[in-house]
Amino acid sequence: MAKVYKIAVIKGDGIGPEIVDEAIKVLDALASVYDFDFRYNELLMGGNAYDITGDPLPQETIDGCKEADAILFGAIGGEKWDNLPREKRPESGLLRLRSELDLYANYRPVKVYDELIEASTLKKEVVEGVDLLVMRELTGGIYFGQPREKGENKAFNTMVYSKEEVVRIAKEGFEAAMRRDKRVCSVDKANVLEVSQFWREIVEEVAEAYPEVTLSHMYVDNAAMQLVRNPKQFDVILTGNIFGDILSDEASMISGSIGLLPSASVGGRVGLYEPIHGSAPDIAGQGIANPIATIASAAMMLRFSFGEESAADRIEQAIEQVLREGYRTRDIADYGAKEICSTTEIGSYIAEYVSKI
Ligand code: NAD
Repeated sequence: MAKVYKIAVIKGDGIGPEIVDEAIKVLDALASVYDFDFRYNELLMGGNAYDITGDPLPQETIDGCKEADAILFGAIGGEKWDNLPREKRPESGLLRLRSELDLYANYRPVKVYDELIEASTLKKEVVEGVDLLVMRELTGGIYFGQPREKGENKAFNTMVYSKEEVVRIAKEGFEAAMRRDKRVCSVDKANVLEVSQFWREIVEEVAEAYPEVTLSHMYVDNAAMQLVRNPKQFDVILTGNIFGDILSDEASMISGSIGLLPSASVGGRVGLYEPIHGSAPDIAGQGIANPIATIASAAMMLRFSFGEESAADRIEQAIEQVLREGYRTRDIADYGAKEICSTTEIGSYIAEYVSKI
């Protein structure tokens, strides 16, 4: 009998619908190979949700996500909604959803595809073989801290972490390291911020339960520099919300395009899977967005939420094969392209290989 998986689908704004459609195409191809029955429930979030309902995160979306086994998400945001009050902006919908679902651990793996080694702005010898994971705390820190205020002459935010919040993300980081190269580099700003000194102390405490894992600490400014100087030195980078946001975008360029990297946000019962990039309004509707990050996010969903390791591997192998054969979207077209493809063409090739491999 087919295994049933309920997937909440949030396409979002900008290129969101284009890239999520391709991930669904690939999942459907996989379903026939593995006898999966994916049941999709499309929900609104972001600017489009605000336009229709007046709320970037309607209650129906929260309820639909809570009923699902996992959430597949594209991206949200765009200039049209930039001047709305903060709580009406698309981003606040996503922040609220992460918080509602307790998605405190954000996995952002960075891996370099051999076929695209030249696509990185860094030298080949620097990026070859890079395989690191940014483990970002996602529901605390300065993005959520109270008090916060924007006044006429002054504005402020608060960076706050409780012991419980640091313990749980640190455990996630150490557990991930145990499945990898057993090295954790905790990134903070402990030379200036009390909240970072606290973070460091708690991470040290959690480390005691993982004697096999080597723990090091690095200030975030140095980490930003080390990531482009010698990214191979890192295995798991464990860090807070804002530092992780910035470092993971920086790390994405190691791989050559922001359109390649997936992410998983977990912690609560239902995980959320999304590309690390935004809604790319500059290229929306042109059929040129790279759907690989979203398709790779669907693979992470299969692995993390459904425990379907071999199906996840199959998608990742299909992506690699498509790149090996020289099919490229425009963002990576300068590197070994045999054929420049549209968003839907790349999705179709990957779906085809998923069925064939
Ligand atoms: P962005 O990631 O959307 O785009 C940055 C650059 O990368 C653009 O030149 C874009 O064309 C390119 N790019 C991004 N994804 C691509 C893909 N799949 N294929 C090819 N090229 C791609 O970042 P931005 O321009 O700073 O933000 C645009 C909007 O997205 C803003 O409203 C922002 O708030 C929002 N945003 C949303 C999320 C999210 O939904 N999780 C994350 C970041 C930014």
